[in-house]
Amino acid sequence: MVRALYPGSFDPVTNGHLDILQRASLLFDEVLVAVADNHSKQVLFSPEERVTLLQEATAFLPNVRVTSFQGLLVDFARNQGARAIIRGLRAVSDFEFEFQMALMNRSLEPKLETLFLMSSEEYTYLSSRMVKEVSRLGGEIGRFVPDCVNAALQARFAPGKDI
Ligand code: ADP
Repeated sequence: MVRALYPGSFDPVTNGHLDILQRASLLFDEVLVAVADNHSKQVLFSPEERVTLLQEATAFLPNVRVTSFQGLLVDFARNQGARAIIRGLRAVSDFEFEFQMALMNRSLEPKLETLFLMSSEEYTYLSSRMVKEVSRLGGEIGRFVPDCVNAALQARFAPGKDI
């Protein structure tokens, strides 16, 4: 039973995340999506909300589970018995930071491999940050996110709500 961890902010989950997740779910027995509960990062949705949205959006993938974690990723991966960390690569701009993080994680836990997957090219420009910005300004983001996220963003940015 080979388990992989897909960590990230997922604030909120987008179709780009889901594309990576579907690819990973074909490679591993189980993929555990790990929502980072990181107080130093400013987020729109609470860790519980992000987990709930992910659970709804990944219900069609039987070998995917969702949880949140605090602290060091390598510690969490060890506790979960995960063999690999999945990260998605969009453009060259992602590479520098991802490269540093993968090497740092390897020096902290040599047995844990980081695997980079590329999403379909239609999602290479897609990020949670961009989706939030467009939605906040009233733009249509339905084709970039699962329905539950579209509804959650519309509710969050409904006129009268002060964000
Ligand atoms: P983090 O704050 O850890 O980068 P994100 O939720 O932004 O969390 O991203 C989690 C992972 O998913 C990262 O590896 C990121 O590169 C990847 N990812 C996000 N959006 C896309 C996308 N559109 N295509 C491919 N990978 C993506």
